[in-house]
Amino acid sequence: MFIAHLPAGYLITRYGLRTIGAPFVKAGAWKYYVMFALVCSVLPDFDLFYFYLVDNRQHAHHTYWTHIPLFWLLFTALLYFSAKAVFKKNIGLVSSILLVNTLMHLVLDSVAGGIYWLYPLNNEKYRLFEITARFDWWVFNYIIHWTFLFELLIIAAATYVVWEDKKPALVDTVSQYND
Ligand SMILES: [Zn+2]
Repeated sequence: MFIAHLPAGYLITRYGLRTIGAPFVKAGAWKYYVMFALVCSVLPDFDLFYFYLVDNRQHAHHTYWTHIPLFWLLFTALLYFSAKAVFKKNIGLVSSILLVNTLMHLVLDSVAGGIYWLYPLNNEKYRLFEITARFDWWVFNYIIHWTFLFELLIIAAATYVVWEDKKPALVDTVSQYND
């Protein structure tokens, strides 16, 4: 997945914070959690710096530990329990946002790219659809494929939700009209 990670992260975090997370979000803190979530939603792809600058494109970046689900499970658990033990802080909400968004990233990367979901139990890459290489520049193979419509759909959904959130509530419009 290329361009839908941020909007997907926004959609799932907005939903989560308004439902399960609602009692834990202090007034005014909502936007900070969302900003953190957006960073988390693309966090696994920071390995592209390593891919291009250090590894010289020798290994697919989905083979790096940043795209291994078990890594994010262990990393989040370590973060949560060390914060609790060392700083006596409960960072349950922050940890949940981190885990949900990084795993969501890997789910979306499983549509066409493929993720080693059961590593290190097995070395199989799991993906929903296989993309055949038709163009020299590998990015084109994914953008021209029909699964890219899925990305456009997520972007459209997030745009719609942001637009709806920014729209003044109907009751305000009615009261303004009556004034
Ligand atoms: Zn990725």
